[in-house]
Amino acid sequence: MTDTYDLAVVGAGPGGYVAAARAAQLGMKTVLIEKDDRLGGTCLLRGCIPTKALIHAAEVWQLCRKGARTFGVTIAGAAFDWTKVQKRKELAITKGSKGVVLLMQEKGVTVMHGHGRLAEPGRLEIEHADGSVTGLLARKIILATGSTTASLPNVMVDGERIVTSDHLIHVKSLPASLIVLGAGAVGVELAVVMATFGCQVILVEMLPQVLPLEDPECGEEVARYLKRQGLKIFTGTRAEEVTLTDTGVKTFLLDLETRETTTVEAEMLLVAVGRKPVTEDLGFEKTNIATDRRGFVVVDAMMQTSEPGHYAIGDIVATPQLAHLASREALVAAGHAAGRPLPPIEYDQVPSCTYSNPEVASVGLTEAEASNRGHQVRTGKFPFAALGKASILNEPHGFVKVVIDTESDRVLGVQMVGPRVTELIAEATAVMGLGADTAAWSRVIHPHPTLSESISEAARDALGRPIYLS
Ligand code: FAD
Repeated sequence: MTDTYDLAVVGAGPGGYVAAARAAQLGMKTVLIEKDDRLGGTCLLRGCIPTKALIHAAEVWQLCRKGARTFGVTIAGAAFDWTKVQKRKELAITKGSKGVVLLMQEKGVTVMHGHGRLAEPGRLEIEHADGSVTGLLARKIILATGSTTASLPNVMVDGERIVTSDHLIHVKSLPASLIVLGAGAVGVELAVVMATFGCQVILVEMLPQVLPLEDPECGEEVARYLKRQGLKIFTGTRAEEVTLTDTGVKTFLLDLETRETTTVEAEMLLVAVGRKPVTEDLGFEKTNIATDRRGFVVVDAMMQTSEPGHYAIGDIVATPQLAHLASREALVAAGHAAGRPLPPIEYDQVPSCTYSNPEVASVGLTEAEASNRGHQVRTGKFPFAALGKASILNEPHGFVKVVIDTESDRVLGVQMVGPRVTELIAEATAVMGLGADTAAWSRVIHPHPTLSESISEAARDALGRPIYLS
């Protein structure tokens, strides 16, 4: 007899496993189907966790190599062992993935390994690694199959010389030089890791700035510090041709404004030009599930697809590809499926972080976006150079910028570059989520000396009453 579940979730990334956990918590008989041997998805196995483990190792090395001396500490014979750096990263992955297995057990979620596909609405078939196929029925289905690396038509990824983030995070030995195509969050983070461990990095971005989705001022600030760390940066530049050489990879670059061409060579090339949704071989043709022209599943505010009772969340829908957003969409979909709907997600209040050096974090609208939407905008800014804690840390670079609506005094957006801003952005997100106005925010007492003092000062600046700035 075919098993019947209240809910089946396909894909065990931060979208899928959170949806399964919540649905089970709400009393639904839930099954989670994952084609990989391990649970956790891109985030845990190939994305957020491994990259941040490498970034932290790079920070420790940076401090030992250069930083410690500033504080009067000499570390004789400081060295790093890349194999151990990789082992530590693997430990973080294994621990996280086992944690998801435990979570599923604790919540009473059945886990099945295999490729899930819709045989018809409400019926899934699961193709297991040994080739056998089993089936199940589900009253509701959540699709959370995530995304995979995209490439360029003229670039053939071989996994050796021309690689994606999936390959680079696992490299056994560090390349001496690396070309990075794409200066979005993934490209910039991996460029910083490699450069910190001594690799010569050339960063190429087709759009006019590094981190093109961020406020231009943030992009400029980051680019300035990356150049200081020895990275070569080409913005507004397209990689025209990529060829393998005896020693590595050669790329012709075209400056899109001046039409000048440059040839750059390196041992390895990282393609970091974005990610595409995983929607092939999911049986959509047997249902009414619709995709847009880029292949993302079309959903409404409750994450429902055009097939009743079928939801899609995370990287397969056309919302920002972020783990925390996938998890939020999971809660909305699971809640709706269980008859406990949540308010729709405010997509203008989703924080976004780049864990580079310096870090970048933002939430809400940039100054330009707010003006384009017709807001009368005022901004406030506070540089970390004017903050005691930043000076104690010897990280006096970057700033906090606050964008407010002059009529309502509402905070529309916050952008930050500098030390630990990926932690500080949580405060701005909470302020926006709770709907506090700028005046109320500026009165919040921040502990001294902390980096968080920069936030209330930026808010005061937006109101025209800065204390520490003239
Ligand atoms: P995924 O995590 O991709 O999980 C989908 C799962 O579905 C996978 O396990 C896959 O094997 C499975 N699957 C696919 N098809 C099937 C099928 N037919 N049957 C069964 N299983 C299937 N985001 C952040 O918020 N912060 C970060 O710092 C960050 N860093 C990143 C760094 C890198 C290098 C990368 C690549 C991404 C990073 N991201 C980060 C993005 C983040 O990883 C994704 O947004 C997030 O993982 C999306 O979650 P998801 O559940 O939608 O999909």
